[in-house]
Amino acid sequence: MPINYIQEELERLKREGLYRKLRRVEGEQGPTLILDGREVLNLSSNNYLGLANHPALREAAKEAMDRYGCGSGASRLISGNMTLHLELEEKVAALKGTEAALVFNSGYQANIGIISLLAGEGDLILSDALNHASIIDGCRLSRAKIAVYPHCDLEQIEAGLKKAPAKTRKLIVTETLFSMDGDEAPLVEIVDLAERYGAMVMVDEAHATGVTGPNGAGVVAKLGLVDRVLVQMGTLGKALGAFGAYVAGSRELRELLINRCRSFIFTTSLPPAVLAMAIAAIDLSVKEPQRRLALWHNCRALREGLKSLGFSLGQSQSQILPLIIGDAEKCMDFSERLLGKGVFAQGIRPPTVPPGTSRLRITVMATHTHEHLHHALKAFEEVKNENCKM
Ligand SMILES: *Cc1c(COP(=O)(O)O)cnc(C)c1O
Repeated sequence: MPINYIQEELERLKREGLYRKLRRVEGEQGPTLILDGREVLNLSSNNYLGLANHPALREAAKEAMDRYGCGSGASRLISGNMTLHLELEEKVAALKGTEAALVFNSGYQANIGIISLLAGEGDLILSDALNHASIIDGCRLSRAKIAVYPHCDLEQIEAGLKKAPAKTRKLIVTETLFSMDGDEAPLVEIVDLAERYGAMVMVDEAHATGVTGPNGAGVVAKLGLVDRVLVQMGTLGKALGAFGAYVAGSRELRELLINRCRSFIFTTSLPPAVLAMAIAAIDLSVKEPQRRLALWHNCRALREGLKSLGFSLGQSQSQILPLIIGDAEKCMDFSERLLGKGVFAQGIRPPTVPPGTSRLRITVMATHTHEHLHHALKAFEEVKNENCKM
């Protein structure tokens, strides 16, 4: 009997170098952190614009609490649809240039609900091999046939579309800015293929929202594809420094989601303070484009610095710099050594990334200073030299 399952599974994880532990952050989310009691440089956050502890977001949250209280008390379709939900949705639609938007409690919930609504038994989903776990889980939940194509491989997407009977409902789903590699999907070509073969396109802008495109609207807006992409989703918890997620698209899409999307319907809606901070974050991100400029400046500086130390950073074009180590244990060792020098760059292992591609996922923030980046590069150089000597 598998009665020792929990213990055995934990032992297996430790044996294979895949055991994970929670770290404790005291105080605020800034460019530096108090991590497990020590101040370290933070190269492991998705708080790219540094908004998570911004005074404007704090004030907005406090005001909303004073005016509307704390909890929302129910799901959106019962009595939990408050003024701020609708206000935030208008903000998102305006930012993204779509007819409508709908707020979800998290990006994870948005992805599992939307994908499993758009595709069902007998349908076909084409999904990038490096898509986020929430997309993978949405595909699984749908019961559709899932064709995972090699990362950004247009030929394989076309082959998959061609093979499917004309009447089959088809959905292509991809991240726009990939979360673990920092590269962008060939979205223009994907949309062309989708139109040629009659497929729906859904994109996940989790890491592009607030970061790229006009006013931080994302890759779809940057490429002028707003009217050709059926579903855009993104999170409010990363660059925007708040919490929750959005879907942007047509009014009909919003209507269908409200009526049928289980992860939207069967959950208590976001509370006022969270909605207010998301609204404030979008306002700030639009009003202060210099945050994005600072982010891009820092990206370039750290990327060039790491490259000149001889590190290879894959195809990254963004604030996400993957320093591929390969072996999971070596990767975690590298990360620990950096931490010893006061630099927190989280090692990422399977199943988050494919086996053999364990990496340090280094992320840059708009609020990193020149001194921060200098400190980081020095630490990377030292650890590299230690490893060479071993
Ligand atoms: C973080 C992330 C999500 C989930 O968003 P949350 O709001 O954090 O639940 C979805 N997709 C991608 C690509 C992500 O990186």
